[in-house]
Amino acid sequence: MAEVAIQGAGIAGCALALLLARQDHTVTVFERARFLRSGGQAVDVRGAALKVIEELKLVEEVRACRTHFRGMSVCDEHDNELERTTERTLSGGRFNSDDIELFRDDLSRILFSAGSDFVTYVFGDEVVSARQQSDCVSVELRNGGERSFDLLVGADGLHSGIRRLAFGRDEEYVHRTGIYAGIYSTSNSIGLDAWQLVFRTPERGIIVYPDRSNDQLRVALYFADGEAEPPLQDTVAQKCALKAPFGDVGGRFRTLVAELDRADDLYASEMAQVRMQRWSDGRIVLAGDAAYCPSPLTGQGTSLALVGAYVLAEEIARSTGDLADAVESHERRLRPFVEANLAIDLRTGKGIDDAKNAIAI
Ligand SMILES: Cc1cc2nc3c(=O)[nH]c(=O)nc-3n(C[C@H](O)[C@H](O)[C@H](O)COP(=O)(O)OP(=O)(O)OC[C@H]3O[C@@H](n4cnc5c(N)ncnc54)[C@H](O)[C@@H]3O)c2cc1C
Repeated sequence: MAEVAIQGAGIAGCALALLLARQDHTVTVFERARFLRSGGQAVDVRGAALKVIEELKLVEEVRACRTHFRGMSVCDEHDNELERTTERTLSGGRFNSDDIELFRDDLSRILFSAGSDFVTYVFGDEVVSARQQSDCVSVELRNGGERSFDLLVGADGLHSGIRRLAFGRDEEYVHRTGIYAGIYSTSNSIGLDAWQLVFRTPERGIIVYPDRSNDQLRVALYFADGEAEPPLQDTVAQKCALKAPFGDVGGRFRTLVAELDRADDLYASEMAQVRMQRWSDGRIVLAGDAAYCPSPLTGQGTSLALVGAYVLAEEIARSTGDLADAVESHERRLRPFVEANLAIDLRTGKGIDDAKNAIAI
C-alpha cells in the first residue's frame, strides 16, 4: 500500500483522501488553514459527479443538504425589483433538474467527516519544498520536519503551492478573466426566506441568499476590471477592492456591502481558468482547481474536482503498484472530460449539458 500526501482539504482533497483511504492507502492531508474552511455559496454536483457521489455512498447525506430555494428577485442597484420568478434561481437554474445544488461547506464537511477516521488531517501546515527521489518524494513542511511519500497530490486550489513548486509560476497556467468575486457570510438581518436577491450587470453584481437555516446570508460581490491585480493574501486589501465598485448601491444592498468589513470567512478569488498540458511530473500530481479550474462562471469546478479525484483513485486501484503508470492513465482518461468543461462558454454557460456527462464513471 502507498503513502500518499495531499495538499489542500477542499473538495478534491477530501474526496481523494476518502477514496484512497478506502483502498487502504495511508493518506495524510496538509491544509494551510487552521480548520476545515467554511463559507462560500452553493455549488452544483452534476452529471458524472452525481455518479461519484453514488460510488462514495454519500447520496443520502448529500441529498439531505440540497438547497430548497423558492425563487428569486432580480433588482436594480437601488434594490427596486425588476423581475420575480418562482421557477428558477440564479445559482441553481431551473428547479426541474436532477443535479444537486448544496452549500460548498456542507459538501466539504460531508467528505471530510466520511474520511476523518481513516485519514490523517494536518491543519495549519503546508509543503514548502518537494524533492523527487527515485523511490519517493521528500517534502519539507512549513512547521518544520521532513517527510517522504510515494505520491504527492496538489489539491490546493486555483493558486496551488504544489503547482508552483513542481511546474512553475501561476502566470503560465492561470488564465485571467478580469472578473473578481468575494463571498462572505453575514446575519440574515433582511429576513430573506429561501429566496435569492440578485443585482447583475456585465460589469458588477451582488447575489445574496440565506443558508439552509435562513439564519445567515451568503453574499457574493463581483466586478469586472481587466486592469486590477488580484490582492491575493491581504484580507483588508481584498475587502477594499471588493467594496469600491459598490459605493452607489442602495436599499438592502447598501447594508449587505457594509457588512463585508465584519466578515471573517471571506473567500476572494478571480474567476480564472487553469489550463495545463500535463497535470503530473513523476510522483507529483495535481487535482481539482489546481490542475483544471474551469472558473466558477461555469459552475463546474466542484463536479470536475469530484470526477478528477475519482478517476485518479480508480486508476491507482487498477494499477499493480505502479503509481507512475496510474497517474499517466488517469491523465489520458480524464483529459477529454476536462477539455469539454474548459470549453463551456463563460458568458452563456453553453456546452454544459454535454460537458457534465463527457466521461463514463
Ligand atoms: C472557502 C471557500 C469557498 C468557496 N466558495 C465557492 C463558491 O461559493 N462558489 C464556487 O463556485 N466555488 C467556491 N469555491 C471554490 C470551489 O470549492 C472549487 O472551485 C471547487 O470545488 C474545486 O475544489 P478544489 O478542492 O480543487 O479547491 P478548493 O475547494 O478551493 O480547495 C482548496 C483547498 O486548499 C487549501 N490550500 C490552498 N493553498 C494551500 C497551501 N499552500 N497549503 C495547504 N492548503 C492550501 C485551501 O485552504 C482549500 O481548503 C470556494 C473555495 C473555498 C476554499
